[in-house]
Amino acid sequence: MIYLDYHATTPVDSRVAELILHYMTVAFGNASSTDHKYGDEAEEAVSKSATHVAKLVGASPQEVIFTSGATEGINLAIQGSLSFDPTNRNLDRIAVLPIEHKAVLDTCHFIAKKGIAQVINLQLDSKGRLNLDDLEKVCQSGISLLCVMAANNEIGNIYSIKEVGKIAQKYEIPFLCDAAQAVGKIPIKFEEWGITYLSISAHKLYGPKGTGALIIRKGYHLQPIFFGGGHQKGIRSGTLNVPGIVGLGEACRLRQLEMEADEKAIAAKRDKLQSLLINKIPGLIVNGDTTARLAGNLHISIPDIPNSAVIARVRSKLAISTGAACSSGVETPSHVLQALGLPDNIIDGALRIGLGKFTTEREIDRAAEIISNAASQIRQAMYLEV
Ligand code: PLP
Repeated sequence: MIYLDYHATTPVDSRVAELILHYMTVAFGNASSTDHKYGDEAEEAVSKSATHVAKLVGASPQEVIFTSGATEGINLAIQGSLSFDPTNRNLDRIAVLPIEHKAVLDTCHFIAKKGIAQVINLQLDSKGRLNLDDLEKVCQSGISLLCVMAANNEIGNIYSIKEVGKIAQKYEIPFLCDAAQAVGKIPIKFEEWGITYLSISAHKLYGPKGTGALIIRKGYHLQPIFFGGGHQKGIRSGTLNVPGIVGLGEACRLRQLEMEADEKAIAAKRDKLQSLLINKIPGLIVNGDTTARLAGNLHISIPDIPNSAVIARVRSKLAISTGAACSSGVETPSHVLQALGLPDNIIDGALRIGLGKFTTEREIDRAAEIISNAASQIRQAMYLEV
């Protein structure tokens, strides 16, 4: 079985897993119960993790709030920054990329439905590239929050967060950057690029599931979205998930050391797979912005061949997907590909392939063979039916 679904999740690095086990079984203290050594040890581990996370994204450790993942961090940033005008005269206006993750879109649509905020879609072209002039106009018109992801989880596009941050700062607009797919794969400079809130997820960077962080810029305050013991400055109550936090911290520390070399090698394998597939499958299309995409991303369409038919043929040998993990299994076309205005036969034939640091050359050769064989068998069957 070949795993090529690294956008959905990644295997935990064994060095990270070892440390997690230690903080589950030996150093298992509660980081807020510091009347003894167990608590002190846990508290120290949490603060060390904050340092590793902050270092990887160019923030300061005091700005790190640990969460259960990017979804929670995004909810906290969006819901926690609402101004809630009781007169309802000054609606919050939130500008988003229409291809943001559902964690952003569904949170915005939920509050819009409640009549608390209005959602404005930013303009993209058919490759998912952001129109910076439109972005500037929208910012100039006055918005309360800007949401632009660092990298997309389907087509893999990387957005110029430095440029977006410049515009957000010019108009003094709080800027949420969902960096779940980007952190540990491309450089992120929180402080320097003027990001206000940055969401991170550990399981996308060889860390454990159910843990992540929201980086909140100094001087910005968020209302908590749930209440309890007042942990983490009262912004995010709840006993700290020390093993998860340690796992996130260690994963970030390792990415800092290994990201550059790993991503270079991953990009070379992705490029090889792309050429093999283009050569073997007539009519194959590569979606997204191929000049600025994640090293491990290869998003293709085989026009007129339904992706479900390909998946059905390859699934016992190869793990690839038809779209985002949270949405696959739901029989609706990808909101990302729809927002790009792609024709139905391209959307129906779309496949997301995600490579990671454990992907081997042999797996690439084999995957190309499996996918192209499936495509030609399906084409043949369709031809015979006609
Ligand atoms: N944002 C993006 C771009 C993602 O790819 C994901 C995960 O699929 C999320 C947010 C949600 O992250 P988590 O699984 O940590 O809640």
